[in-house]
Amino acid sequence: MSAQIIDGKAFAGTVREKVAAHVTKLKSENNITPGLAVVLVGEDPASQVYVRSKGKQTVEVGMKSVEHKLDVETSEADLLALIDQLNNDDSIHGILVQLPLPKHLDEDLVINSISPAKDVDGFHISNVGLLGTGQKSMVPCTPLGCLMMLRDHHGSLSGMDAVVIGRSNIVGKPMAQLLLGDSCTVTIAHSRTKDLPEVVRRADIVVAAVGRPEMVPGDWIKEGATVIDVGINRIPAPEKGEGKHRLVGDVDYASCAERAGAITPVPGGVGPMTIACLLANTLTACCRANGLEEPEGLTA
Ligand code: NAD
Repeated sequence: MSAQIIDGKAFAGTVREKVAAHVTKLKSENNITPGLAVVLVGEDPASQVYVRSKGKQTVEVGMKSVEHKLDVETSEADLLALIDQLNNDDSIHGILVQLPLPKHLDEDLVINSISPAKDVDGFHISNVGLLGTGQKSMVPCTPLGCLMMLRDHHGSLSGMDAVVIGRSNIVGKPMAQLLLGDSCTVTIAHSRTKDLPEVVRRADIVVAAVGRPEMVPGDWIKEGATVIDVGINRIPAPEKGEGKHRLVGDVDYASCAERAGAITPVPGGVGPMTIACLLANTLTACCRANGLEEPEGLTA
């Protein structure tokens, strides 16, 4: 079998178009412009790239984008004061604090100081609790993007066996909650799981969120299963020249694509969906804040 490629780049484009259309409607009918504030502390190069990309795409869909770039030495009190100011700013509907934060800042404290209604990353403890109890919440962007692609590919996920490899708070755990919410039978596998290959072989849906390059080989995959590869790993690519790198996922794409029914590539799979879902979450937060109907298909 040769797997159907789930084109996350194209799908993300569709999500952005939907968001942009709804933003246009909000502006013309309600005179409201959704606003996203991104806070970056320090000069981590990868974070700078993400923040730039988020800001650019926010503007492209017609939203207001505000960036706060703070010195690496910024005190916790100053950061909390900025978040408080953004919490009380009616023109800002989404607040994202780019992680990781410098070591002297308490990440949990900072994230939990964001108003849950503006927590477009879905990391606030209230949103985690709401998601876990099946209530309306802000949903973490990467797992939301995976869910959207799975729903688009399968329609209903009800009754399917899903294995999520990885139990992080930002991907693995919320992914499992979302799949449970769509009535999958969910297994969360992790570094201590016994006989991981056998666990993965049971799955109709495999979501790999481990951070280990090409860890999942094709012979772990059940014929026809759907494979969602969240991993983004930079590995040396001497074939491209000295010192060059390339991106690979957590699954061995070539061998998994031979057995899977559908698979997301890296790059061009889950990655582009993450920012698209950030925009979707900002729009959702804006609609909720104003008591307006939420756009269809952009939330869990
Ligand atoms: P993390 O390091 O927080 O968690 C990794 C998880 O993998 C842990 O729960 C651990 O138990 C599990 N694990 C480690 N080794 C294992 C093994 N040998 N067998 C089974 N499980 C094992 O990572 P994360 O933040 O969840 O990210 C995972 C990957 O997804 C990374 O490559 C990251 O770059 C990528 N990521 C991508 C996006 C995106 O937008 N596409 C977003 C977030 C993370």
